[in-house]
Amino acid sequence: MSVVGRIARITIALGISAVLCVFAVLAIGPRHLGDGLSAEDVRCPEGLDDTGISLGRFFGEKDEEPVSGEVRALLEDPNFGASPAAVEDLRAGIVDERIVGALRAITEEHRICVDAFKEGHYFLPGVEDGPFIPDGYGEAGGLPNTHYHGRAADIWDVDGKPVEGNGGDPDVRDVGWILAGLQRDERPDQIIGPPGWTEALDRSPEEGWILEKDQTELHKDHIHMGFREENGTKNQK
Ligand SMILES: [Zn+2]
Repeated sequence: MSVVGRIARITIALGISAVLCVFAVLAIGPRHLGDGLSAEDVRCPEGLDDTGISLGRFFGEKDEEPVSGEVRALLEDPNFGASPAAVEDLRAGIVDERIVGALRAITEEHRICVDAFKEGHYFLPGVEDGPFIPDGYGEAGGLPNTHYHGRAADIWDVDGKPVEGNGGDPDVRDVGWILAGLQRDERPDQIIGPPGWTEALDRSPEEGWILEKDQTELHKDHIHMGFREENGTKNQK
């Protein structure tokens, strides 16, 4: 074989390897664990937070139109960052509009990163999420899983600061105040955050806050907000 032919073959082989690497990265994606498991979390990595890259899209799967103007506005909001799985959930229209509304209230004032709504959310490693919280997840095991129904969001970052270790940060705390300031029917009735954050806000279960110690301990690294029921809330004030 001529030298030119050999160089051409090597070039093609390198090109194919590069393409395979790109596909491998896209396929793996920044998947990470949700509630309580922070070992592998990826926090709105630069360039991946709102691009919505996915293999399906790469292969020409047709774009789903956002179901509402509110969803579109959230996706286009520069203050809103999300994992690719969370972006897909929004595009697929499975996220409860009240969750979208609460996130929009927060992004009016703060930059946040949502890691999971439904897809990519896990309570326990290796345990597929279902309609109910698995046994072994604190005292909440057996209760309905609001994530599974698209009625919950997990916030991991506020203004570039991880929730973990920053429960006392004014910006992280302000997310709680914004939620507290929402109308009763617009406010999630399942708000859980780190122990220090929860204590400082000093809100009540009637306002949607979960105060059980085992739950705040399981939320040291993120703020969870959810709606327990498909319609209405359990908030009493
Ligand atoms: Zn959650």
